[in-house]
Amino acid sequence: MGEQDWTFIMSKMKILVAGGGGFIGGHLAKKLIEQGHDVRIVDRKPFDEWYQVHPEAENSVGDLQLLDECEKATKGVEWVYNLAADMGGMGFIENNKALCMLSVLINTHLLRAGLSNNINRFFFASSACVYAADKQTSTEATQLREEDAYPAMPEDGYGWEKLFSERMCRHFREDFKMVTRMARFHNVYGPFGTFEGGREKAPAAMCRKVIHAKMTGDHNIEIWGDGNQSRSFMYIDDCTHGVEMIMERDYTEAINLGSDEGVTINQLVDMVEDIAGIKLNRNYNLDAPKGVNGRNSDNTLIKEVYGWAPGITLREGMEKTYDWIFDQMKNRYGAVV
Ligand code: NAD
Repeated sequence: MGEQDWTFIMSKMKILVAGGGGFIGGHLAKKLIEQGHDVRIVDRKPFDEWYQVHPEAENSVGDLQLLDECEKATKGVEWVYNLAADMGGMGFIENNKALCMLSVLINTHLLRAGLSNNINRFFFASSACVYAADKQTSTEATQLREEDAYPAMPEDGYGWEKLFSERMCRHFREDFKMVTRMARFHNVYGPFGTFEGGREKAPAAMCRKVIHAKMTGDHNIEIWGDGNQSRSFMYIDDCTHGVEMIMERDYTEAINLGSDEGVTINQLVDMVEDIAGIKLNRNYNLDAPKGVNGRNSDNTLIKEVYGWAPGITLREGMEKTYDWIFDQMKNRYGAVV
């Protein structure tokens, strides 16, 4: 069945979105609610820190590292989307490896509780950080194919947790016949995400820095690394579309879900400057965390399996993201505009 023929054909279900107070979970939950599903959202953060609160859902605060909380969260549920993890951009994951690895408890306990509560289907949000570092040494954005995750040498901390949890999903499927699905997200961005505080990723951080320069008149910005490191960035709408597609259909192995529009960090800054209508002085901080030199998504497999791949252009997505962050900063720091 090609992408054109494919629609979400599910009847109304009870669905858990774990980590739905976060960026991707918040968007996914909204979409599921709009489709008529009965959605339960559980997140560890207090409600006033959720990026989106959907009053139509059953919302609760709970620590899903605990088996008891996972038992409660999965009771009466048919499908589980696990978007909960302790995560952030390079600055966070390079300095918080133990916290990142502790997310293994969330996925493990959700799988165990899901099994005892007889859920029908389970989705795990994996990451491009599972790919071996030695495949990403060139700033020519290396297109990573799914098989490049092995032999395993993922990003320390965060990447090991993701790879281990992928295997846990695989073995729950093979040994316990639980239907599990996994996607390896490549940098997701968009409105209703974090843009300050240390967990933000490059697109949101660039928007914040450029907007700050515009608002204050201080035209110096700091760039982490030399700006030549390359990445691809997927707009949130492509992400949630892909997640639902992967969950609903039959492919069982971990699959890339990312844009293959490669860009250097300098080009990303050029784009944000252009959107903002401003030119800035760039100060390169070579000591700051910058991650691997080059990474991109190879989308051969997702196109083969689903006849679809993320296609929203970076320019289109960045304009929407910039506008949203601009409004947030204007509301918050209006006085300095
Ligand atoms: P996010 O930080 O915005 O959302 C994650 C949510 O999980 C947060 O709201 C957090 O409070 C919650 N959480 C953490 N620990 C919890 C716990 N013990 N119990 C309950 N909730 C808990 O991150 P996101 O960008 O929405 O990412 C969602 C998923 O996608 C994560 O698994 C992440 O690793 C993965 N991912 C994201 C990206 C990206 O670019 N955003 C890239 C690759 C993979």
